[in-house]
Amino acid sequence: MKFSTRVPVLFSGLALAVTALLPAPASAWGAQGHRLVARIAETRLDPAAKAEVQRLLATEPGATLASIAPWADQLRAEDPDLGKRSAGWHYVNMAEDGCAYDPPKHCRDGDCVIEALKAQSARLADRGLSDAERLQALKFVVHLAGDLHQPMHAGYGHDKGGNTYQLQFNERGTNLHSLWDSGMFYALQLDDDPFLQRLQALPAPAGIVAPQLQRDAARWAEQSCRIATREGVYPANRKVGQAYADTWRPVAEAQLRLAGERLATLLNELLDTAPKQH
Ligand SMILES: [Zn+2]
Repeated sequence: MKFSTRVPVLFSGLALAVTALLPAPASAWGAQGHRLVARIAETRLDPAAKAEVQRLLATEPGATLASIAPWADQLRAEDPDLGKRSAGWHYVNMAEDGCAYDPPKHCRDGDCVIEALKAQSARLADRGLSDAERLQALKFVVHLAGDLHQPMHAGYGHDKGGNTYQLQFNERGTNLHSLWDSGMFYALQLDDDPFLQRLQALPAPAGIVAPQLQRDAARWAEQSCRIATREGVYPANRKVGQAYADTWRPVAEAQLRLAGERLATLLNELLDTAPKQH
């Protein structure tokens, strides 16, 4: 997200030492969260969508749906122009307005996660574009579908989605955004495979249907926003620990699972080659 403290990999020992002192990146679900969303989606692709995803990924050596998922958060180092242009695509702030999405107010010029997801989805589905353009769109779609389900990415504007809301978690300084991105998960100490199993073992989310993006992208973000505004998400006491994680980590995990399921239905819809009946 926009307020990332991520820094490029640096080569000198001194720089590394300095880097180690910086807070953890506050950049959307941590990379692990994005990979997990992609992997859940991957298991639910229909054959046509799966084949097209594989075909696009094969144009970039070694790329997998999981490996490309965090890419959009690394853009500032890799492609500063695109990174700057897409900085506003990772979030939408509407909690101050009761989580009711109002495009002119919350997404001027399409510069928010809801409209960016729609726009990149249209590019991915457009077979008139080049494979390179569609692969880039796929990278954005996989990433932004994840961001949309991180409640802090649809929350308040005044504290930049919790980025400026400092607190202590288990005696360590952090901020609320970072805690929801990854901080609550660190204590689990799970690699991707066991974490994926954990998420797959959750009850299946209800009401997963083929999305109509014009309507559903906003609805998904509004649901995320309503989590961000639930009582207790912003703790009364800025020193929190296990009790906070016990309460809210299941909510965050359910959002990861939901994001993966919805991403699959979205990709199935966008990459379906069967003739459509309208
Ligand atoms: Zn992001």
